[in-house]
Amino acid sequence: MRVLTGIQPSGALHIGNYFGAIKQMIDLQEKSDLFIFIANYHALTSLKDGEALKHNTLDAAINFLSLGIDHTKVTFWAQSDVKEVLELYWILSGYTPMGLLERAHSYKDKVAKGIAANHSLFSYPVLMAADILLYDSEVIPVGKDQIQHVEITRDIAIKFNNDFGDIFKVPEFKVDENVATVPGLDGAKMSKSYGNTIDIFCSEKELKKATSRIVTDSTPMEEPKNPFTCNVYALAKLFLENDELEALKVRYQKGGEGYGHFKAYLNGLIWDYFAPAREKRAYYVAHKEEVIAILDEGAAKARHIASAKMDMIRNLVGIYR
Ligand code: ATP
Ligand code: MG
Repeated sequence: MRVLTGIQPSGALHIGNYFGAIKQMIDLQEKSDLFIFIANYHALTSLKDGEALKHNTLDAAINFLSLGIDHTKVTFWAQSDVKEVLELYWILSGYTPMGLLERAHSYKDKVAKGIAANHSLFSYPVLMAADILLYDSEVIPVGKDQIQHVEITRDIAIKFNNDFGDIFKVPEFKVDENVATVPGLDGAKMSKSYGNTIDIFCSEKELKKATSRIVTDSTPMEEPKNPFTCNVYALAKLFLENDELEALKVRYQKGGEGYGHFKAYLNGLIWDYFAPAREKRAYYVAHKEEVIAILDEGAAKARHIASAKMDMIRNLVGIYR
């Protein structure tokens, strides 16, 4: 089963990204034909700083490899290394009714938020369709907010197939209902844009500062505390086995320890959990040429599929040679 997912090269990753998305990818790479690309063309819709985009693209590759994406099991590349995707994007545009894009929630939401509308923001779902269809992807894991984009892809694929036969696999989306929303420092969903994150690759000092900001109630140190309403507990839960979690629950309910103690404990859990990834990251940062070679190898694999597909499509739609 071919599963495809794109990742935005948008800088620092937080533990919400890890437990909400990256962990599932690590799991999927063992049991599916997983394709992961760094969506740097997509990032152009909002990022207009060339140096930053270049840096973020390589940084995203470094981060994902460090966290356990295994390039020997996954086809892993940078979107812009396979130009066929832009050619397909243009061809698919001719099979995309305006109304389909005008109904896209994510575009309407962005415009409502005051983000200046440009054409790439509007036509983004067509590029996403090209990403998916070019590689015969069967399953697209998404958050609820991305379901509509996969539906747009399906509509475009069906329209094209009506004219030309079964050229494209019509993909399914998959929403993982088991993925819990990771709370941020303030208890709301952890999100870059809310500034309430704990970043995976921050320094020890930054980590301490972040955990110290986690909002708790003001139950005095001596008194029993309710773990089930506590953000510190909710975050610690992500890192603990059942028996360890049980032990933490007992500490909460016994009283005698303050939130400072629990925050220090959480701090240690996070720091230790990501220690191997931090080490790998330091290695890749010092050996960027290895990362580039990995992306080149992934692009070659992806291009092999893309180029055969585009030969067929060019021929069908009548592009000379
Ligand atoms: P932004 O604020 O720009 O939306 P973000 O911090 O929400 O950024 P995204 O880039 O939107 O991060 O999300 C990347 C992936 O991480 C997505 O699959 C998303 O569902 C997942 N994710 C993000 N935040 C959380 C969270 N708090 N809990 C679980 N999963 C999350
Ligand atoms: Mg988000």
